[in-house]
Amino acid sequence: MWTGAGLFQHKLAGDEDLTIDWIYSDATKTNQKVFILTTGEHGVEGYVGSAMMQLFIEKYLPKLDPRTTGILLVHAINPWGMKYHRRGNRDNIDLNRTFLWDVGHDPFFNPEYDKIAKFLDPGTAIKSRLLDDIGYTLNLLGHIARMGMRNFRYALLLGQYRHPHGLYYGGTKRPEETQTLMNLYKQMMSSYDQILHLDMHTGYGPRYQMSLVNSALDKNPSEYYEKRFHYPLVVAATADEFYAIRGDMVDYEYALWQNEFPDKRFFATAFEFGTLGNTMYGLFHSPRVMVHENRAHWHGARNEQLLARAKQGFEELFNPSALEWKRKAVRDAERAFDGILSAEGYIQPQFAIL
Ligand SMILES: [Zn+2]
Repeated sequence: MWTGAGLFQHKLAGDEDLTIDWIYSDATKTNQKVFILTTGEHGVEGYVGSAMMQLFIEKYLPKLDPRTTGILLVHAINPWGMKYHRRGNRDNIDLNRTFLWDVGHDPFFNPEYDKIAKFLDPGTAIKSRLLDDIGYTLNLLGHIARMGMRNFRYALLLGQYRHPHGLYYGGTKRPEETQTLMNLYKQMMSSYDQILHLDMHTGYGPRYQMSLVNSALDKNPSEYYEKRFHYPLVVAATADEFYAIRGDMVDYEYALWQNEFPDKRFFATAFEFGTLGNTMYGLFHSPRVMVHENRAHWHGARNEQLLARAKQGFEELFNPSALEWKRKAVRDAERAFDGILSAEGYIQPQFAIL
């Protein structure tokens, strides 16, 4: 359909053969609008992302109009993390804390994180399932009692630029993966009148209902988008509705659009496939899984069984094995693709058969 489409790549620095790959094509007649799909910004999430890419290509790509629509399909923004089943890149950097507009990688940002840094990275190997779980729970309850649940989550998830072995670390300078994507976004915004970008993630939100997570910089309320896209769950990446983030990729695109291309039509959002759920169990368990995996990565575990358990819990948080979960994820994605692509004028609206 796109006769001029090409496969492009950015090879990561270092000896390993790791590349960010993308298929790009101009529209075949006039570059009116572009559709962008990205996966694997958090490496381990790239497996679900890859399934969504395949779904899009099989079911929706044939419905686009190549005469007016360009395509940019990016497979694995963070190939190192995908290969090694981690969220961060080789330097433990969460790329979704590195898309900074107008500010630096300030090491003093988010000072509250310092108070939970030792809890999140105790600096020792995993020794015992029972003792580690008890220690984790007591510490967690202590921090929540002192800070409150809301402030604890805020400090945990916001991003930090000071603890390289910690969680949600944003590094000290712009990573090459981030620069590669920034260049692509700028190129798309300069070349088209309308830009639509969908970015694939897993891990947060209810287990059996994918959340559309909009940028905190989008001016319309979530309810507006639920109606517009005929989709039941839309949230904004704010402390109230989801959680606040510094250096978010979609926020960066909003800033780029508002500052340099305000006359264009632009929308971007993230598909966030929840795994553990929003229950108390999920809220307690998901940082525990992150802490254990991070600890196992840096400091190892006393035996293979403990190591395997830490890795498996992490895998279930970002790439669940249950078939019924996968089936629901595909159904939710179809509903969101239908709603968004129709509302944004990329495909003909689908009429529900009642
Ligand atoms: Zn993610």
